[in-house]
Amino acid sequence: MATIKILGTAGARYVVAKQLRSSAGTYIEYEGTRLVLDPGPGTLVRMATTKPRLDVMKLHGLILTHAHLDHSNDVNILIDGLTEGGLKKRGVLFAPRECLSGNSAVVLKYLRPYLKEIKILEAEKLYTIGNIKFRTSRRHYHTAETYGIIFDFSGKKVGFLVDTLFSPRLIESYRDCQILIINVVRFKPHPSPNVQHLCVRDVEEILAEIRPEKAILTHFGMTMLKAQPHQIAAKLSRKLNLEVIAAYDGLTLEI
Ligand SMILES: [Zn+2]
Repeated sequence: MATIKILGTAGARYVVAKQLRSSAGTYIEYEGTRLVLDPGPGTLVRMATTKPRLDVMKLHGLILTHAHLDHSNDVNILIDGLTEGGLKKRGVLFAPRECLSGNSAVVLKYLRPYLKEIKILEAEKLYTIGNIKFRTSRRHYHTAETYGIIFDFSGKKVGFLVDTLFSPRLIESYRDCQILIINVVRFKPHPSPNVQHLCVRDVEEILAEIRPEKAILTHFGMTMLKAQPHQIAAKLSRKLNLEVIAAYDGLTLEI
């Protein structure tokens, strides 16, 4: 059985800045292998205060889907924690190249040798850590180098469709997902093409096409919170005749 605990459900600047929802990442455990995906601000604190407590020193790896702060802020403190400040060389970090080199690099250089390994994420590749297997999606349409993650838990595919502008070309990457966790930052489309996030209309199109067994909406911006995510999820559920739920901080899925 896989356990997925969505520690935080905040997306975009105001919800993160005001902590209207937590911006912590997602904890994933499968057959003794433990990961954190997209450790945004507050991940370490949430891990230490959630019940049951999640021990940073027992993590085997970290995954960054992209370098944006609400996805990567706590990566350094988690590396420090899981390696006991470098005393134990362990843990694997998976991240797009942009997180490690160039102007958007987010992983502190002095921490990198503490890790057992750093693996670069590229589009549509397979990766393994311990008992967890996953693949990346095609590259997302976002202002940073971004890949979605599709976990394979003994044949059960669980996709994290993270930040992106909508494109029908993305759907192929997630077509075989039975469970789809979607970052839906916006209620309505943004007039500026520089805001590269999904809105509710995009999510409806994606879900109508993929028809997963279950969809979970998360990573909410202000317009989503105002529109009440659980009501949006209920409406999509009725309209598409699918199970769609809105995540809340601490939502745990047993798969
Ligand atoms: Zn982003």
